[in-house]
Amino acid sequence: MIKFFESAPFSPVGYCYEIENILYKGKSRFQEIAVLESPDFGRMLLLDGTVQMTEADEFFYHEMLTHPVMHANPAPRKVIVIGGGDGGVVREVLKHESVQKVYLVEIDEKVIEISRKFFPSVSSGLDDPRVEIRPMDGAEFVRKTPRGDIDVIIVDSTDIIGFARSLYTKNFFSAVKDCLSGDGFFVTHSESLIYHKETVRKVQQILKESFPSVDLYTATIATYPGNLWAFAVGSVSLDPREARRKFEIQTRYYDDEIHAQSFVTPKFYRKLMDDKLDWGLPARIA
Ligand code: SAM
Repeated sequence: MIKFFESAPFSPVGYCYEIENILYKGKSRFQEIAVLESPDFGRMLLLDGTVQMTEADEFFYHEMLTHPVMHANPAPRKVIVIGGGDGGVVREVLKHESVQKVYLVEIDEKVIEISRKFFPSVSSGLDDPRVEIRPMDGAEFVRKTPRGDIDVIIVDSTDIIGFARSLYTKNFFSAVKDCLSGDGFFVTHSESLIYHKETVRKVQQILKESFPSVDLYTATIATYPGNLWAFAVGSVSLDPREARRKFEIQTRYYDDEIHAQSFVTPKFYRKLMDDKLDWGLPARIA
């Protein structure tokens, strides 16, 4: 057994895992990519030394990033997934029978290749005829997408550093809003509500400059430092808290009860969003 210490530059903590094997380690044009084998978490995908997903708990994150907004939309036909090169979000999107087209806009094709090879259960949807893979920057793709054409846009990016930063700007959010249909939704992860409060707050504020209404829900992701993971939602017109279709898809974490409960956030978050209040916690875990 090898002890592997995760490098999580974005968080004040990093985890240590027991590893049986290093199945792959290489560099793409964009990042270092590794696949480790752990007795506790199964295969693990790392980018630049940070855990992106594990076989054991990837469904927590992929289901919770996908299904709340997919269920809040009456009949999502066209969907854009930005990042998400492992294929997990695409797999979940395809479970909705109204879906006719999914664009997977992943800047690094090598991630898709590695996921196909080492994570067949996660990348299983990538060969579905409804899926179109576009290896490019998500912000550039959205800028070129016709207005009002897309029902749901999901950002499943790495941490908000480096080339992922282009997905968290005012320009990007307003370009997203322009290409969404009248009852469209946008969702992106916005890091940990425990360790990255200022980031969570800033993403909500920037979203508010482009969307008539924004909201936030959370889910517990054991293998992401900080665990209480925030998902920021931008809505063109509808309330994301209302699931508008019967719940009939195969899931292991998400269901209609979780949908409702996930929008209930801790009291400090509500204070956090009120600029006037001092919610006094050490800045370091801001
Ligand atoms: N679920 C993981 C998480 O939340 O940490 C993310 C997994 S997925 C592998 C993250 C992907 O986002 C990476 O493959 C990365 O190449 C991609 N990505 C980052 N910035 C991007 C951008 N600007 N456009 C398209 N893809 C991007």
